[in-house]
Amino acid sequence: MSIYDKYGVRTIINAKGNVTRLSGGFLDAEVSAAMAEAATYCVDVAELQAGASAVIAKLTGAEAGIVTSGAAAGLLVGTAACITGLDPGKMARLPDTGGMKNEVVMVRSQRNFYDHAVRTAGARLVEVGLPDRFAGAGVRDAEPWEIADAINERTAAVFYVAGGNARPPLADVARAAHSAGVPVLVDAAAQLPPASNLRRFIQEGADLVAFSGGKAIGGPQGSGILAGKRDLVMSALLQQLDLDILWEEWAPPASLIDKDRLRGTPQHGVGRPCKVGKETVIGLLVALEKFAAENDHARTQRLQAIIQSLQAALTGVDHARIVPTGGANPKLELHLTPDAPRTAMQLAIELARGNPSVHVDTSRAHAGILSLSAWCLRDGDPENIAARIKPLLRY
Ligand SMILES: *Cc1c(COP(=O)(O)O)cnc(C)c1O
Repeated sequence: MSIYDKYGVRTIINAKGNVTRLSGGFLDAEVSAAMAEAATYCVDVAELQAGASAVIAKLTGAEAGIVTSGAAAGLLVGTAACITGLDPGKMARLPDTGGMKNEVVMVRSQRNFYDHAVRTAGARLVEVGLPDRFAGAGVRDAEPWEIADAINERTAAVFYVAGGNARPPLADVARAAHSAGVPVLVDAAAQLPPASNLRRFIQEGADLVAFSGGKAIGGPQGSGILAGKRDLVMSALLQQLDLDILWEEWAPPASLIDKDRLRGTPQHGVGRPCKVGKETVIGLLVALEKFAAENDHARTQRLQAIIQSLQAALTGVDHARIVPTGGANPKLELHLTPDAPRTAMQLAIELARGNPSVHVDTSRAHAGILSLSAWCLRDGDPENIAARIKPLLRY
């Protein structure tokens, strides 16, 4: 029995990984205990974010940082910061960006549905490059000179989506943007591990970088980090906070908010709907410190051990080859043979529908491959997964 039974919700076995749709991963006991304790006190939320900033700055090498309600929320308030700077009048007008710098330049091949968060702040995306390498028709993607070419007096930021496939290299993009005085905002939501990536994008020239707290960091599902230049982080926080307070009464923490550089109190900004509760801030901080403290090698070994028990449990499965992938984010692939009783997609659908419900990665089902991740598996899950798969692959 779990708390979910009480509300008529079934729990699932999540072999897909820490995706939002399947509720991310699960919290370490130390993280949940910290959240439970945090929930029993009241604090000033701006002071709480200033405390978070010190931790995030230390672990990312950035000047400052805040806890957001996810990486996507970080992109929204980060974009807003690039558009408005420290002008409370502009903050109040978003997402109406009339008369403001409102263009955000990005490489066309990096377009994805999370960039909706950038557009939500009121920005218009300006796409650069023609990525014919993906069509097999050519060798190009986008080049730094094309980014420089797209920057003009209306450009608020360059947006970069980090990843193994991302071109040109971030350092080159940052050079092009900075020589025109334009900041670079990086989506690094899922770029952990390795833990060294907490620092990497700032080192390579990002002015702001957003990470998901609910993925590998192991924080609350609805959490994230936005780290970067002090002024931009200050502006982002001002547009996320609830500031229902009179100017003379308002005493924000000086380490993160310079009241004397503002003309007035920014009112509830474009990021106010992405509010972050105190339990979430504390949970994220405890999880982030744990993540940064765990050696990458130890983390990989912990995941490898789960993959090995899954592999052992699946021994003797019919009509499929079992292929461990290795690497820092180890997975187990199920390669179905052509004579299997179901296609890979049919198998995945049956697995999710049955009891216990098992979710796997279907992104290569078209090639007959299902992929299973170790990140969100609990004790006993490997055996339960094998017990569901084996009969479905038998005639
Ligand atoms: C997961 C993801 C996001 C969203 O992160 P949240 O923390 O769920 O808001 C944004 N961008 C990319 C590339 C992602 O993988």
